[in-house]
Parts: sequence; C-alpha cells; structure tokens
Amino acid sequence: MRHVLAGTVAAHGMALGRARLVHPSRYTVDTRPLADEEINGELHRLHHALDTARLELRELRGRLHGALAREVNEFIDAHTMLLDDPELLRGLDDLVRIGHYRPGAALQKQRDRLCAVFEAMDDPYLRSRKEDVEQVINRVISALQRQTSPEERKLAARVGEILIADSVAPADMAQLAGNGLLGVVGSSGSTYSHSAILARSLGLPMLVGTRDALSHIHDDDLILLDAERGEAVVHPTAQDLAHYRAWQREAANEGRRLAKLANAPSRTRDGIELCLLANAETGSDVAMARARGADGVGLYRTEFLFLKKKVLPSEEEQFIAYRDLVMGMGGLPVTIRTMDLGADKADAAGLATRGEENPALGVRGVRLSLRHPAVFSTQIRAILRAACYGPVRVLVPMVTQPDEMIAVRTLFKLPLGAMIEVPAAAINVRALLQCSDFLSIGTNDLAQYVLAADRGNDALDNIYTPLQPAFLRLLSHVISAGRRANKPVSLCGEIAGDVNFTALLLLLGLKEFSMHPSQILHVRERLATLDHAHLRSHASKLLRAYTHEQVEAFLGEITR
Ligand code: PEP
Ligand code: MG
Repeated sequence: MRHVLAGTVAAHGMALGRARLVHPSRYTVDTRPLADEEINGELHRLHHALDTARLELRELRGRLHGALAREVNEFIDAHTMLLDDPELLRGLDDLVRIGHYRPGAALQKQRDRLCAVFEAMDDPYLRSRKEDVEQVINRVISALQRQTSPEERKLAARVGEILIADSVAPADMAQLAGNGLLGVVGSSGSTYSHSAILARSLGLPMLVGTRDALSHIHDDDLILLDAERGEAVVHPTAQDLAHYRAWQREAANEGRRLAKLANAPSRTRDGIELCLLANAETGSDVAMARARGADGVGLYRTEFLFLKKKVLPSEEEQFIAYRDLVMGMGGLPVTIRTMDLGADKADAAGLATRGEENPALGVRGVRLSLRHPAVFSTQIRAILRAACYGPVRVLVPMVTQPDEMIAVRTLFKLPLGAMIEVPAAAINVRALLQCSDFLSIGTNDLAQYVLAADRGNDALDNIYTPLQPAFLRLLSHVISAGRRANKPVSLCGEIAGDVNFTALLLLLGLKEFSMHPSQILHVRERLATLDHAHLRSHASKLLRAYTHEQVEAFLGEITR
C-alpha cells in the first residue's frame, strides 16, 4: 500500500529504486506468544522465508562476475552454510513449536544467542563470524516481513538500490557509491553532515530526518525518493511514476537553460566580478567544474582518499589523484586541503584516534597531521609532486593558533592557507593572517563550534543556522580582516553554494565562493540579480540584529 514518509532534503534530486536497509535488525518484531492453532501456519511462513533467503543468495551469486565475484562468493558460501545449519534450524523450530515464539521473534532470539557465542570466542576470525550470523538472519527476518507484490518485484528487479539507514558514515557512503547506489534515506542526520556533503558531491539524492524510515520500509520495497519535495514514497503508484518522469524532463530542460551561463561572467547586476571556485573531490566533480566555468578549485578534501580503504593511501596513489586534479583544471588554481581526519571522518586504516570522548573537539585536522609526521610528509610529498603540473595552494584544516601554521610552513614552500573553522582562529584572525597567504572559511564547522551545536544533529536545526547574528558578526570580522591585510578570503562551507545565502555573503563583503560544481551556475544566475552596492550599504544594520529571525526578515526586505 502506498505511503509517504517525510524527510529533510540533504541532496536534491529524485530516484526510483529498491530499498536496501542497513539495519534490518531494527524491524519491529511481534513478540506476542503464538496460540496453539497458529503454530503450523507460522512454521510454514518461517520455512518459506528461509527458502527465499537461500534463493536470494543463489541469485546474488548468479549476478556477480570477475574479481568481485571471488570476494563475495566466499561470504555467500558462509551464509548459505549457516542457512542450512541443522542446529540453527532445529533451534528455530523448537522456539516456534515449543516456545510459542513467532518466527520473527524466534529468529531474533537465535541471532542474539549465536552472536553472543561468537563474540565470546578468543580467535579473532571466529569472532568476526558474528557479522555473518547477523547478516544472514537479518536477511531471513526481512524476507519474512516483506510485503512486495509480484508485479512490483519485477519492476524493482530492474532498478538500483536506495539505502535506508539510521545515518551513513562517510566511509560507508564512499564505498557504496559506484556500486549501483541511487540514493539515501536517513532516519536521522542533518544536511550539514559530511555524509550529506558527500551525497551532493556524488550526485546522490538524499533525505535526512526521515523518522519512521526503518520501521515503515522493508528490504526490496519499491521506493520513489523525491529529494525535491522531501518525501520517500513507498510502493509508488503510476501517478507517482508519471511525476518522476516529468521531473526528469524538467531537470533536463533546466540543465539546458543553465548551460547557457557556463561561459558567462560571474558578475552582480551592478558589475562587480566575483570568483566562483569549486569544491571538487572526484574526477566527475573536476569535469563539472570545468564545464560550468569555475575559476579554480577552492577545496579538494583529501581525506576521502583515506576513508575508502583499510590501508593508508601511498605517496604514488595520492600523487596520481592530486596530479589528475591539477591537470584536470588545465592551469586554473587548485587548493588542496591536507587530510582532515578525526571527528566523524575516522579513517578505515585507524589513523584517527579512537575512543575520544569528544571527537569533534579532539585530535582532528592539522592536530592529527602534526602527530603523524611520517604520514603527513607522505601527503606533502605527493602534493609537491603534483604542483609541478599546475598552480597549487595548500589549505590546512582545523587551525586554532599560529604555531600550527608555522609548523606546517617549515615543510614546503607552496602558497599556504588556514581554514577558519575554530572560533579562536576567527577571533584572532589577524595573527593567522600574518602566517598565511590566504584564508578559507569553513562555515560548516565554524557554525557548529560557535553555536555549540553538532552539525550532524537534526534536533538542533533551530540553533544551527548560519543566520545567527553572533555567527554573522564573526564572519564579517574575518572577511574584513582579510581585506585589510590584502589577502584573499574564500568561503568553502555549504552556504557558499546555496542561493538563499548569496545575498547575505555579498552583503558581508565576500568575494570568493567555493561550492560543489553543481551549484556554480545557480549562484552565477543569482548574482546577476543582486546589487552589490545596495547590499553592502545595509551591512552594519544587519549586523546589529539580535535574533536570526530578525536577520531573515531584514534580508527578505532588502532583497525584495
Ligand atoms: C567546513 O567545515 O565548512 C568545511 C568546508 O570543511 P568540512 O565540511 O570538510 O569539515
Ligand atoms: Mg570543516
């Protein structure tokens, strides 16, 4: 039956796909005891679900080829063996027949019992089998709960997957991308989280804060993810699909309209030229940045190279990525940010400190890099080699005080910039300007630290807003200090690419915007409608506002 779950749009777009739950174990399971006359029917349901799970594994094996098949077949074998394990099957039957458990509750009980056994084992290999047990039993639970009709299943088999999860770690998202993932529905999370940024970069539509997603969506349900309206439509109707096709046509039309701006100048209505840079991480970001007429790359987040694999990337691997970026931009300036690991960007190789009580305030960014000189110098060498292919600047994340910049400065001679994302750095920006060639304001983090509101926590949306007067005063302070010191200041947080903030940033005196390349033409279009002198003349009044509501109202007035 069609139903609609509301969420917040974290990355625009639409996608039609099959639901893939990350945590099927969270399904609500009926724990009421069975009546005697229900037992045979429920045993039949249980065995039907076990057969479905076996069939799925066989089908999965049939779909895989090449190297991936070799790797995945190993776990398919392990899962198939578990599904046929006589002890597991007998245990399940007994729980239903003797214990009067419903099949879902019996599966859960067996899963928890077996997991506890594996967890207690000394041998790390055997201990890791716990995951197999969890996955295989979750597969049966989801088969048991599935409500998909046969026709829908036929359509679903032809489309890719939409991930349904509580929240997705950036490392997982990086791994899933490219494996047929079409979009993400998160039951929690916020639009400023790194996963949301990554989804935008990968062009994956994403919803966050979709409260009931995990309990109302089942594996293989057909989902129309509408990350324009902020809805996940479960079991969409023909009308929904027609709406999706209309959106696809409209998106293509808008693309053609905006494409005309690709070679246009980035200029306000009163003729002030601005610099629009790209936040680019992948080859396709770089291609898009060029195609949309970016003036360069203002932020290349290198940590994504570290998040993908269980080993640290070698100098050669990094060099190739950076060189391709530099060459891809064909002589335009490229800003490479040194690794910003830690906090929510814990690397798979384990460099980031684990178990910190407060990782967002812990050893992250440059603090971490300076504690791992060998890893850091490998990265620097790779950047220096790439700098032979075109103009490169280096940006340092999470700087708090000048000595960190001075320590990095000793390592090489490329233009060096500090990210301004720690309040102390913003307040004492004049000191950082003395040891930096340029600045880039990381508003995603700066806002979270100034407002003491986790950027990934959607319960704080009313506090975590860049319209907060205290935050705007700090932004204005940094931008003015850069202008007085005659050093470039760019802004590379998400608001740079959000047309709702373009007028505000012009008003504060910002000249360089760095954003995901998909936003460049939108911002260019918006700039042409705005009058720079008019906005600047209202800066002091706006900065005297007391509340973010007042800021919003005032902005509305002066841009009408
Ligand atoms: C920021 O904090 O604004 C920023 C651009 O860096 P990241 O989002 O990678 O933390
Ligand atoms: Mg940051």
